[in-house]
Amino acid sequence: MIHADFAVRHAGQLATMMPSAGDPLGCIRDGALAAHEGRVVWIGHDGELDAQVDLDGDQLDAAGACVIPGLVDAHTHPVFAGSRADEFAERLGGAEYQAQQSGERGIVRTVQATRQADPAALLALAEARANRFLANGTTTIEAKTGYGLDLPTEAKSFDVLRHLSARTPLRIIPTFLGAHVVPPTIDRAAYVRALMEEMLPAFKAQAVFCDAWCEKPAFTPSETRAILGRAKTLGYQLRIHAAQLAPGEGPEIAAELGARSADHLEFATPAQVKALAFAGTVAVLCPAANFTTRGPRPPIEAMRDAGLPMAIASDLNPGTSNSESLPHAMSLACVAWGMTPRESLLGATVHAARSLGLEGFAGCLQPGSFADCILLDVETPEAIPYYVGVNRVLQTVAGGVVWRPS
Ligand SMILES: [Zn+2]
Repeated sequence: MIHADFAVRHAGQLATMMPSAGDPLGCIRDGALAAHEGRVVWIGHDGELDAQVDLDGDQLDAAGACVIPGLVDAHTHPVFAGSRADEFAERLGGAEYQAQQSGERGIVRTVQATRQADPAALLALAEARANRFLANGTTTIEAKTGYGLDLPTEAKSFDVLRHLSARTPLRIIPTFLGAHVVPPTIDRAAYVRALMEEMLPAFKAQAVFCDAWCEKPAFTPSETRAILGRAKTLGYQLRIHAAQLAPGEGPEIAAELGARSADHLEFATPAQVKALAFAGTVAVLCPAANFTTRGPRPPIEAMRDAGLPMAIASDLNPGTSNSESLPHAMSLACVAWGMTPRESLLGATVHAARSLGLEGFAGCLQPGSFADCILLDVETPEAIPYYVGVNRVLQTVAGGVVWRPS
């Protein structure tokens, strides 16, 4: 007998996301799963559970609802203070996003608000965001710093992420994004030097990834190569914001340095897409940010042809995507870009997990994976993006425990 301390039973369809003969989603009808100490230990047909599993703990009756792995969000900026709702309105009146990145507006404005916020207030804001992620079915996020842009505030942002991890069942994978933009009141060269000589070594123990925005108004290709190259030498894994607003070298740099992910990619060329696929990098696409900035669609067909895995992320941030909802991002990817519902589901689970180095553990359900799953009021797992803008998540389970909003 297999010992378990938690089980989900009677899933109408249980999508394991482990491909089986003829079914890329690995669906089990009337499925069940059992977990022990936060990991899946058994998965199969509900009728076989009692004979194979010795369950001492809670059972959650899905009562025919669909069950899928907890969603994985591979690009979020959850540590910030302040609002930029007025800039959203200005863009609807014709202002360009790039033109807002100057003076006291844009990212710099969020940096000032984040520097001024006391740690408890910043943590409360981040915790509210964590609750919205969980309510919308996300159980793992990649979480960037990058609204401090000086040693003390970047350190404060990492403290927030550490305290947040202790207070929420949401899994948080920290990324150092000191190379978000050049902050005000410091010279470019001096800031790049501070990043490479002080901040990158200081935060190595606290971050899994280092990220950089390689594009105007942020960093040039040569600055990006220097920063990410130094990060790689120090042992960080790499991500990059690239080709979001204009064509550029960012995707090549990601491929050259073996980045885990290259993000946005609206303006990636076919040759860059091939290079990323060859390098084993994952494309992390951000439909909600694309939607509010009215950007062009990324080269989805070229990515498909090249076999480049496409993850879908919320890009939660105060400037272009103030949303924790991956199902909403999946709807946009389908309706605005022509991705299939299946591609969007793979993008918010397996491919996102791969971009975080969590393949086999998150974004899928199999013995040994995290016992993270969600119950959904949908006909089939592929119907999630059909429900545009409404939350069909009934329950969120993280680490073998049913999450309840606090
Ligand atoms: Zn971003």
